[in-house]
Amino acid sequence: MTVTRSGPLPGAGDDSAPAVYDVAVVGAGVVGCAIARELARHRLRVAIVEASGDVGDGTSKANTAILHTGFDAVPGSLESRLVRDGQARLLAYAAETGIPVEPVGALLIAWDEEQLAALPRLAEKAARNGCHDTRPVGPTELRRLEPRLGAGALGALSVPGEAIVCPWTTTLAYATQAVLSGVDLHLDCRVEKVRQGDPHRLVTPRGVLRARHLVNAAGLHADTFDALLGHHDFTVTPRRGQLIVYDKFARGLVRHILLPVPGRLGKGVLVSPTVYGNVLLGPTAEDLDDRTATGSTAEGLAALRAQGRRILPALVEEEVTAVYAGLRAATEHDDYRITAHPRQRYVTVGGIRSTGLTASMAIAAHVVGLLADGGLELGPERPLAPVRMPNLGEAFTRPYEDAALIARDPEYGRLVCHCERVSRGEIRDALDSVVPPATLDGLRRRTRARGGRCQGVACGAAVRAQFEEARR
Ligand SMILES: Cc1cc2nc3c(=O)[nH]c(=O)nc-3n(C[C@H](O)[C@H](O)[C@H](O)COP(=O)(O)OP(=O)(O)OC[C@H]3O[C@@H](n4cnc5c(N)ncnc54)[C@H](O)[C@@H]3O)c2cc1C
Repeated sequence: MTVTRSGPLPGAGDDSAPAVYDVAVVGAGVVGCAIARELARHRLRVAIVEASGDVGDGTSKANTAILHTGFDAVPGSLESRLVRDGQARLLAYAAETGIPVEPVGALLIAWDEEQLAALPRLAEKAARNGCHDTRPVGPTELRRLEPRLGAGALGALSVPGEAIVCPWTTTLAYATQAVLSGVDLHLDCRVEKVRQGDPHRLVTPRGVLRARHLVNAAGLHADTFDALLGHHDFTVTPRRGQLIVYDKFARGLVRHILLPVPGRLGKGVLVSPTVYGNVLLGPTAEDLDDRTATGSTAEGLAALRAQGRRILPALVEEEVTAVYAGLRAATEHDDYRITAHPRQRYVTVGGIRSTGLTASMAIAAHVVGLLADGGLELGPERPLAPVRMPNLGEAFTRPYEDAALIARDPEYGRLVCHCERVSRGEIRDALDSVVPPATLDGLRRRTRARGGRCQGVACGAAVRAQFEEARR
């Protein structure tokens, strides 16, 4: 089991050392981790190389957490196929590993005659994307389904297959299972240069990592990484999405994911419950130049509130727990940019824009197929090491509710974070896990500690003390 965050890489700089990986996956977002996990089914030496100090620390930590059906994808596109396949795979994987998913369904709401007229076309498009269970909902039924909806909704299209999921647990489950199954995870290890050859040499501040096959899962930097290997097929334009997280008291206001009729810049602003029991409003869609611009802006939040007031007026009167923003890896193309370069033993996984969480497992299977076509000898399959993830979902039993568990181990009954009801036992487990957090934010994504309405004002010192004690 190897997770490194510092020191020289195995065999770094020593060409006589045996540490040549069969495959190096660059980027430990949800996509890179899914690919590494899929490769771990085979007896291969696989490394994930990640610039940041944690898995899922890029776009994968800041999305709207919807497990899409792909009903609104471009029919016939690679994205449509992989989202549909990915949704089925992730639903099954979530059931097996304990990733929280709630199948709440979505309502695509028409607010004017033009949008109402678009709904049958969207239903037909959904069917072409393999989503056959949509149905029209009239204004009276709509009000019954969502009594707090703002005035003026003319009707909706019901998309019952849409679900909400925990994106943090998903990435962590893939990474944990990959590492348990033999993958080496090298964090704080940015690839700065690639010296092509057999093996390729990836130059990092921690030395040179050698690998015969490469996968570029660098998210917002996939085009920059591609350029290191001489490819200029697409340019990433970061498309910022700002979101507002409303307090758990707002959860009773909404039952489904409330979607707008999609527009030119994508899926539009939605209102959605989260598996943690909050309500999300967002995201904005702003094309930027800066690939690090994950800040929120007063204008962005004001625009969201204005749209939220129309969709669910009572929501914007509720208390805000947090705001955040993520950057989609949009490109000039309408589809994912997944390209094999067999002569270089290299696969680019670029342009994974606003559906990558859903499609991650299907992207992984597709990429492993491309690697095999490009000469990677996979050999026979073997079972992956089993994983069971801690539950962060409010719809399932949390440790503080489990009397038998607390009787066995009283640490699960000692609450540290009262807003999110996180116990010392869960924090201890996260700090002791296969892929432990390097920061308090990483710990929050694994446990919810400091993620509630007080944002750590009440529990921050106690959480930090336990975090620092474990690192001593
Ligand atoms: C606002 C918003 C809402 C979204 N909503 C949804 C949704 O509801 N459902 C859904 O399915 N998807 C959604 N998405 C999309 C989804 O979040 C992304 O498609 C997915 O997270 C992309 O994962 P990734 O692994 O490709 O990228 P990332 O998570 O960004 O991972 C790439 C990693 O590569 C690393 N890296 C980059 N360069 C290097 C280098 N040179 N060396 C080493 N490491 C490097 C980065 O540090 C990063 O960790 C949304 C996205 C946004 C922004």
